[in-house]
Amino acid sequence: MKVLVINAGSSSLKYQLYDMRDESVLASGRVERIGMDSSIVTHEPAGKPEVRDVSEILEHVTAVKRVIDMLTHKEHGVIGSMNEIDAVGHRIVHGGEVFKSSVLVTQDVKLEIRRLFDLAPLHNPAHMMGITAVESNLPHVPQAVVFDTAFHQTMPNTSYLYPIPKVLYRRHKIRRYGFHGTSHSYVSGQAAAYLGMPLKSLKMVSCHIGNGASCAAILNGESFDTSMGMTPLEGLMMGTRSGDIDPAIVPFVMNKEELTLNEVNSMLNKHSGMIAISGISSDMREITEAMEDGDKNAKLAFDMYVYRLKKYIGAYAAAMNGIDTLVFTAGVGENSAAVRKAVCEGITFLGIELDDERNAIRSKEAREISKDSSRVKVLVVPTNEELLIARDTYELVKAAHSS
Ligand code: ADP
Repeated sequence: MKVLVINAGSSSLKYQLYDMRDESVLASGRVERIGMDSSIVTHEPAGKPEVRDVSEILEHVTAVKRVIDMLTHKEHGVIGSMNEIDAVGHRIVHGGEVFKSSVLVTQDVKLEIRRLFDLAPLHNPAHMMGITAVESNLPHVPQAVVFDTAFHQTMPNTSYLYPIPKVLYRRHKIRRYGFHGTSHSYVSGQAAAYLGMPLKSLKMVSCHIGNGASCAAILNGESFDTSMGMTPLEGLMMGTRSGDIDPAIVPFVMNKEELTLNEVNSMLNKHSGMIAISGISSDMREITEAMEDGDKNAKLAFDMYVYRLKKYIGAYAAAMNGIDTLVFTAGVGENSAAVRKAVCEGITFLGIELDDERNAIRSKEAREISKDSSRVKVLVVPTNEELLIARDTYELVKAAHSS
């Protein structure tokens, strides 16, 4: 079975085509600047050179058509015809409380995703455009949706409720949902497999730290708590997002700086975090380089980032009454030995002993970076959300065929 994985944004669409016999990626790519002039399609067929095509792509229907053209192209295509695409899986940011796992797309499912537009106004409408664009291009192909929030639906109400008037939860579903669920689910499974232990037996903290960043406390194989909340703004300090702050800052700043709600929202989401404190960049590589060159603001940003991450790991160790596995993943987690070292060096009391040589090794494989004597196993596990989406889609379609 061949599964096309799609991550549709408002002006972009990323894709991967998987052959599920061996879970190999036949091609991947992205369409950028949808709805603007000079849209760009970048197509990377496995084993062949990358292709770039610039043209006008006004909406998602055309973007999906271009993707199919690329996949079936005489020279840089990887399949003979679009009939070879057996299923399509979509990444959906918000599944609210309705979706506790991945599902096949039906009229009801589409209705529910529409009802969730309020909770994810930037993401869910774009995902919906992706779904309808696939429907018009591949009308008979089954589609599945995989939610960033679904993995965290196991959180107990002590984790997911905010201590604010309950009527707000009843009326508007204001609660903590958590995100990066596909990644936390994938890396926790991979970590357990690497350790040769049942996932259910582990008390794990997984740190997905990229541009966006979140931690999850994973108990009995299920999400027990996670640092992002109703939106991906809560929790850790991130590239351009503040993470946790005193909410009273919002009305205070609006008043003092004469800012509108939208402006404060934009400040907290786009102009805070690493970029605000370093004054240099939101990119951990640039921060680390500047820090090594003696830049004080870069060092402060790095230290705050690490400090806030350590506090979450400590909090989750307390929440689960212990921890035996710590996992790092995503851009910073997979690549920054400096961040991993700084975090682990400050929490040795938990039973963490980092092995500096193992930590310095660069690899695309899951690996242990703690010493053999370390009570808590510290792992680096490359995330692969697209593969998990392809797997869920494959399983759902297979199950539907056999029922
Ligand atoms: P996104 O959340 O957009 O998916 P990624 O998971 O790709 O982001 O992570 C991007 C982050 O990873 C950036 O801050 C980048 O600086 C960081 N990163 C990537 N490679 C390295 C590296 N070698 N050293 C330190 N940080 C890195």
